[in-house]
Amino acid sequence: MSNQTPSLTAQFTDQPFHVMTKPIGPICNLDCTYCYYLHKEELYPKGNKWKMADDCLASYIRQYIDAQPPGTAEVTFAWQGGEPTLLGVEFFEHCVEIQQQYARPGMKITNTLQTNGILLDDDWCRFFLKNGFLIGLSIDGPADLHDAYRIDHQGQGSHAKVIAAIRKLKKFGVEFNALVVVNRLNGDHGARIYRYLRDVGCQYLQFIPIVERSGVGRHAEGQAVTADQFTAFDAAASAVSSRSVLPEQFGSFLCDVFDEWIQRDVGRMFVQIFDQALSAWVGVEPSLCVFRRTCGRALAMEHNGDVYSCDHYVEPDYRLGNLNFVPLEDLVNSGRQQAFGDAKLNTLPQYCLDCEVRNACNGECPKNRFLQTPDGQDGLNFLCAGYRKFFNHVDPAMQQMAALVKSRRPAALIMEQRSATTATTADAATPRSDATPRRNDPCPCGSGKKYKSCCLRQR
Ligand code: SF4
Ligand code: SF4
Repeated sequence: MSNQTPSLTAQFTDQPFHVMTKPIGPICNLDCTYCYYLHKEELYPKGNKWKMADDCLASYIRQYIDAQPPGTAEVTFAWQGGEPTLLGVEFFEHCVEIQQQYARPGMKITNTLQTNGILLDDDWCRFFLKNGFLIGLSIDGPADLHDAYRIDHQGQGSHAKVIAAIRKLKKFGVEFNALVVVNRLNGDHGARIYRYLRDVGCQYLQFIPIVERSGVGRHAEGQAVTADQFTAFDAAASAVSSRSVLPEQFGSFLCDVFDEWIQRDVGRMFVQIFDQALSAWVGVEPSLCVFRRTCGRALAMEHNGDVYSCDHYVEPDYRLGNLNFVPLEDLVNSGRQQAFGDAKLNTLPQYCLDCEVRNACNGECPKNRFLQTPDGQDGLNFLCAGYRKFFNHVDPAMQQMAALVKSRRPAALIMEQRSATTATTADAATPRSDATPRRNDPCPCGSGKKYKSCCLRQR
């Protein structure tokens, strides 16, 4: 893959944006050990009401629609938490009503909702189906891997309830993505997790690496890295908690999943990072913020209307303002937010600029950039070794699929091409059992004589 810089992207303010909205703040009915969001309770005073107030909700929906560029055909609202289903179906019925009230003529409104699945029942599924909600469901693999960290407030695993939620979603025909947090424990089981999720009926998968910096408290994320916190490239493991996936481990995890997928599932199973990679190989900048050159168009909003630069930077230093006092559009397009997004590119070390897979990786998310490069420059991503391994591993197949896509053929044809190549190679390596030896060939009986002087004569 070439690491040449693609043509400049659209102006910051012309790029679409979206806001991950936390209508119940960080409040959750689970207590997952690795959750980066639970401690956000500390940002708001004790006794705070976590449910988003009606006027704030209506103002947000109106402003979010109004802030979209003219001609926008579709607007997507993203609901997250905490656990948004704690608000009950009625809350989201109300959201849909307000959306319809403010939608421009002909505009399609869609919703995504991220859930742990614990509360999903028939009523929820009926509502999701009726209103076209796309659901993100968290599951970390089979029970032994999932229940290690995804526990409730009594310390009990949640796996059985998540599987029940998958059955319900499938029964009602609700679209959903499975979100897998890749950690130190499940990080050695890529192929097993992939097969398991495929077998229980998940068709869309996202793998999210967990990286918690050690020494900055539980659930640490989104805090600026000071000069003395950068860690040498070869001391990477000591920089993170024991739950965090290790760079090589993450790379191997993705490679193992890819090797399973490419055999039989292209076009049938959809893995977000594979789609993103294919986009880069086709020559189109990936759409996911972490793999783009710049970011800053994926913001977060808390229950009271506070808007932050990013879901991973819900910290006082990254609070842009409150949409009840400053128009959302002004916050989203502010110079401060643009600087936040540009920093992703401007702080990229030379080591990344020279990297052969830079166009697919782009240094990943700045929150994970707390290593020094081998030559001592700050700002290398903790997961670098894993991404480099993965993107190089998939390079031949990506080239093949990119060629198919560019010639307007389905990428899934790669499976036929690969099996034909395997068969041809096997043909070349294995003598055909029905091949008749020619007169001067070595005799197939193994005598060492020519065929004509051995078995052919006897015939
Ligand atoms: S900081 Fe990371 S997660 Fe946030 S918008 Fe930028 S790349 Fe995306
Ligand atoms: S983080 Fe590593 S793999 Fe990614 S662009 Fe930088 S050097 Fe390349």
